[in-house]
Amino acid sequence: MAGEPGEAMAHSAFDTILVLDFGSQYTHLITRRLRELNVFSEMLPCTQKLSELKFAPKGIILSGGPYSVYEEGSPHVDPAVFDLNVPILGICYGMQELAYRLNPGNVVAGTRREYGHAVLKARSIDNHVDRLFDGIEESMRVWMSHGDKLAKLPEGFHTIATSDNSEFAAIGHENKPIYGLQFHPEVTHTQNGTALLRNFAVGICGCKQEWTMQKFLEEAIAQIRHTVGEKGQVLAAVSGGVDSTVAAKLMKEAIGSRFWAVLVDNGVMRLNEADQVKRDLSEALGINLTVVDASQRFLDGLKGIDDPEKKRKFIGGKFIDIFEEEAVKIEEAAANDPTKAGKIEFFMQGTLYPDVIESLSFKGPSATIKTHHNVGGLPARMANGQGLKLIEPLRSLYKDEVRALGRALGIREELVMRHPFPGPGIAVRILGEVTPEKVEIARQADHIFISEIRKAGIYDQISQAYAAVDPSRAVGVMGDNRVYGYIIVLRAVTTTDFMTAEAYNFPWDFLQRVMNRIVNEVHGVCRVVYDVTSKPPGTIELE
Ligand code: GLN
Repeated sequence: MAGEPGEAMAHSAFDTILVLDFGSQYTHLITRRLRELNVFSEMLPCTQKLSELKFAPKGIILSGGPYSVYEEGSPHVDPAVFDLNVPILGICYGMQELAYRLNPGNVVAGTRREYGHAVLKARSIDNHVDRLFDGIEESMRVWMSHGDKLAKLPEGFHTIATSDNSEFAAIGHENKPIYGLQFHPEVTHTQNGTALLRNFAVGICGCKQEWTMQKFLEEAIAQIRHTVGEKGQVLAAVSGGVDSTVAAKLMKEAIGSRFWAVLVDNGVMRLNEADQVKRDLSEALGINLTVVDASQRFLDGLKGIDDPEKKRKFIGGKFIDIFEEEAVKIEEAAANDPTKAGKIEFFMQGTLYPDVIESLSFKGPSATIKTHHNVGGLPARMANGQGLKLIEPLRSLYKDEVRALGRALGIREELVMRHPFPGPGIAVRILGEVTPEKVEIARQADHIFISEIRKAGIYDQISQAYAAVDPSRAVGVMGDNRVYGYIIVLRAVTTTDFMTAEAYNFPWDFLQRVMNRIVNEVHGVCRVVYDVTSKPPGTIELE
């Protein structure tokens, strides 16, 4: 497990359904739905060689995909899939692939494409429908998205359900647990889709529904102790965000003060944030935390830089320098501390499953699979395992699972539900050059905006919110005097995946209240605007 603890952690401790990804936009929903059923599921590219699997799945799902199985160059599953002797479920392309593997003539281009809702009718044979449809009404609305279809039933299969346009909407093998669905049970538009996946994973594959964060916590602690050993020590950078806080608390539970967290105050954190993180991590959660106040070094270096990319690069680079300096000090302290007495051997990162998936997704027959670099530019010595081995305890988890784990670890709700915050902090929320004056203005305005959002009880309905500074001088009249002040741009979005987003629909009086407080309380501001741009074309951050 060393070096890749997260990788081994979940699938070695929990019954696992392996999802082989053929590139469908819905693939990740399959793993999500299964996990919501407390069944652990992991996704790998469809090209995965099954003899190289590092675990024994209880069942395999072949996802949908944009290709046509009969086209040259389209992706195909390792034929060994039929020799593993575990149940198989093919969804859309996945079903076509199963049929094609058994006989290439089984799949053809359909004359009618079928997108959107269809009504599915399950057939009963000898008075009962197949156990894949246990407890499901015989007629239900399902979501289809295909142009190809099965020309005929593969040998040894029977039809379980039909729709108007798909004679073979659901099929099953006569005497082996192999199934195919032309529709998508993983999307919410499909009625009883979750029940169907439960029937497959629990009923047919026999998975125990043990995937809970309480159980994960116990397993993760045991695994971390095993990896790190009796004396091993671990170093990490924390930000005060959800992921690094949850990961840090988990490490603390596992190895106590042999886990060293470092917070670099880069001078562009939110109002009182460094102090707040100290209180939360060090005082409330008992994490061995060092706060490095490097704000002056960052602010000095940011002088005169107005290009957003250069700002990001500078902050990233400076962060590495400072973290490295601190790491050397901590390594010395750790080596000389008789109560700990060991070298720092590991570097911990709060990488999440979507980042792992991103690097594993099947992008097409010719596309090379991207390797993942979620190291935030941290030194190669820490990231590539030459000097320090990487430990990523959250590698198996989705964001909502991280939040649930945070609760299981006793982290306060407000912290668990925190909106994401960019690494370069409010530096990218100040258009153009960053100066101490603008940082102060951004901080004050942001604090007012977020406090009002909390007071209105809508914080959790919003995915991300902040106030930014546009340093263009707008004219205003204050106390009968003509003044020129900065413009504050308020941004608040809702999104499920941060790939697309919409501006939050605030009540008018809320916006007026925030405007009123900002122009009155924040010196140097004379206008407040609300950014209603959706993503795309806008991004969530301004720079
Ligand atoms: N490309 C295949 C079709 O059109 C499969 C589609 C899918 O998996 N959603 O039938």
